[in-house]
Amino acid sequence: MFFHDKTYDLDELARYNLHIHTTFSRCADREMILRDIVAAAEKAGLEMIALTDHNYPEKKNAVAAQKTELQRQLAGIDTKVKVLIGAELSSYGIGRFADDIETDSSLDYRLYATNHYHQDYWIHPEDKSPRGYCENMLAIMDKVIESGRADCLAHPFMAKYITACGDFHSVTAAFTDNEIGDLLVKGYGHGVAWELNVPAIMGDPVFFRRYFGIGKEAGVIFNLGSDAHKLRNIDLRQFLPELKKILGA
Ligand SMILES: [Zn+2]
Ligand SMILES: [Zn+2]
Repeated sequence: MFFHDKTYDLDELARYNLHIHTTFSRCADREMILRDIVAAAEKAGLEMIALTDHNYPEKKNAVAAQKTELQRQLAGIDTKVKVLIGAELSSYGIGRFADDIETDSSLDYRLYATNHYHQDYWIHPEDKSPRGYCENMLAIMDKVIESGRADCLAHPFMAKYITACGDFHSVTAAFTDNEIGDLLVKGYGHGVAWELNVPAIMGDPVFFRRYFGIGKEAGVIFNLGSDAHKLRNIDLRQFLPELKKILGA
């Protein structure tokens, strides 16, 4: 489902940071405890945040138990910030999900990663050319959208974890405008938002300018997220000048 109105104004979108990791994610700084995240969000003028810890296949449904713990902590915090307790879930192959449907439906915000190719459990396509990876990513995203499991796709189309093609920009350059547009529209029709992921955009500005332009023209919903692993990355306003330049927004 969608959590805010449709807008392509980045100043508006910067009121919602919908991709933040806590210490439940191994890759997050140890300072990422809920009380301090909420304090940083207040200082950053955020109205809503989403906690999106990774689920690990070997601890398959741990994010559900973590939600209970985060809820307990949240009850003791006095704040006006709306806190969604979700997860960054994984579809690690076409139609493959690392979490159970019960876990998925217990979360406030279901953000699906579809391109964590650096993880050892991720299934790579047989055809390891840029087009092979494009078709693989499109098929994974398509199945996630149809599954009804996702509220948003995390850093969709991002290729930085693909090492088989040399420069990863050759992968995103191989997506056609029609492929991007058709999938974005399909997601919107299924109530799935498309992430504007700050580090992904910075790492592949040419592609993400295209992505934003196509989505804006098609009228889809974008959710902004900084993929914060450190407290100082919670405030989205610091990224706006650069994002506006890259996206032409
Ligand atoms: Zn991710
Ligand atoms: Zn993340």
